[in-house]
Amino acid sequence: MSSTETTSLLGRKNGRSTVAKAVLAITLSVFALMVVKMLSETPGTVLPSCADPGTPNSPSTGFRNWTAHFSDPRFVTAAAERLGGAVRIATQTFESMNDVPPPLDVPDSPREGLANLRVFLQNSFPKTYVPYLNWCCPSSDKLSFPRHSTLKQTVISRYSLVYTWKGSDLSLKPLLFLAHLDTVPVLAETIENWTYPPFSGFIDFENDAIWGRGAVDTKSSLLGILEAVELLLGNGFIPKRTIYLVFGHDEEIGGIQGALSVAVYFRETLKLNGKIGMIIDEGLDSFSVVENSHINLAKVFITEHRPLTYNITVRTPGGHSSVPPPHSGIGIMSQLISSLESHPYQPRLSRSSIFLKTVICTNEYTPADKRDPIIANSLANFDDSKNAHRLAAHLSANSLADRYRMSTSQAVTIINGGLKVNTLPESVVAAVQYRVSVEDTFEQIAFNTWTQLLEVAQRLQVNLTVESFQGESIYRTYNVGNAVGNILVKLMIPSLPASSVAPTNDDVWKLLAGTIHHVYDSDETKHVVTPGLMLGNTDSRHFMDFSDHIYRFGNIYLGI
Ligand SMILES: [Zn+2]
Repeated sequence: MSSTETTSLLGRKNGRSTVAKAVLAITLSVFALMVVKMLSETPGTVLPSCADPGTPNSPSTGFRNWTAHFSDPRFVTAAAERLGGAVRIATQTFESMNDVPPPLDVPDSPREGLANLRVFLQNSFPKTYVPYLNWCCPSSDKLSFPRHSTLKQTVISRYSLVYTWKGSDLSLKPLLFLAHLDTVPVLAETIENWTYPPFSGFIDFENDAIWGRGAVDTKSSLLGILEAVELLLGNGFIPKRTIYLVFGHDEEIGGIQGALSVAVYFRETLKLNGKIGMIIDEGLDSFSVVENSHINLAKVFITEHRPLTYNITVRTPGGHSSVPPPHSGIGIMSQLISSLESHPYQPRLSRSSIFLKTVICTNEYTPADKRDPIIANSLANFDDSKNAHRLAAHLSANSLADRYRMSTSQAVTIINGGLKVNTLPESVVAAVQYRVSVEDTFEQIAFNTWTQLLEVAQRLQVNLTVESFQGESIYRTYNVGNAVGNILVKLMIPSLPASSVAPTNDDVWKLLAGTIHHVYDSDETKHVVTPGLMLGNTDSRHFMDFSDHIYRFGNIYLGI
């Protein structure tokens, strides 16, 4: 996130509260999730049309008009005050926190904000959290909690929160809603770039915005979920299926202490693996406007890129700067990086690309005389591979984000080396991170990277060793006699299952799409619900084996 972060109070397109819009998530609980049917796409010469189900799915019982809250100024003001209050509590996570688990028995000052936020949430949503009913411990769980009239809070790893809202029919698969309590840090040198201080939680009614770190990512969805639950509890709602809310405390550094520990608790204590009907997590930029139309796209992210990291160390003998070899350690590292950057992953589109659906929908709902001719013509003749290639190149040139919706990304993110101007560095380190597209495999990326590093090592006569962090400890080696240095590469393969791709053609998808229509469509603006691809990662990465239906959906309009 850049140095400013705001969230809108009122959706500009349809005039409803964006804060309240987040409650869409929970309306899902009003409906039943039914049988999953998988239909396969058959290729043909013409691309399939956009084809959104299109009809609102309205609650069947007394909650049909509850979206009236969204336009009630008292509710909007109170919800904005609560979100502003949550933003005012700094819950930054830093990379270094991964090395220091939260102590269970003493106050933890770097994470003090997380404890304060928990108290704030408990006080702000008194129907959701009733203290005297929340006494139980994780080990005695197993849904013994008897009441439907409030939720049970379970604390995992000292700060992560699990809320359980017991359903009336335990034979139905439960729902899981994810959000996170933490935010990325604010760099001290960027504070003066903020229009309002990052932890002011300033409510800017004039400009329809709340300012501050976390306002978008993702205290808005955190508070939105709780607003919905509190409203439903106030109306006497009892969910049919059990609903879990999971709020991790370290999503921004991988969710290892938080969401991963919750997943272990879900798997080992609650035995929920494979048994959750649908999981919904954050998705920051779900909405995009189709220019010159009354249509917005509402993208539900059905998968996400997976991170893969190389830590590279170049070791050379060092020495005085007056007698340098042809390449110092920094020179060798520079050539390695240069080789990698000269082999970027090329964007590509095929009939099965998730991103293609977004392109088709945008083109289809743009008035014919306003369409980009390159896009329109390429889509019309997509089976010609030259056109598919041309379309990918054209879209890439227009948007860096779109480029990486069509390819794996590669970024050199860390470099360190050298201490003194007259001394050759003995050790130079760099990190390269990939976000691997669902169309590529870790093995392909590892092979390509090895090929590029090897070319440099052979040319410069340097030993090369690649150690895999997962799997075989020595992945590959290349050794020469009288090597001028050693390159040690640690390949960090995440110990996570591959990111699944959620279905978009079954009853669960229809339920979700219909609910989005119900909450967001207005007389002025309709939405086309399409599958999308999330470039970043979410805590849902730790819940891959709990459900086939993992969706990421944002309640925020960005860039309009
Ligand atoms: Zn987030």
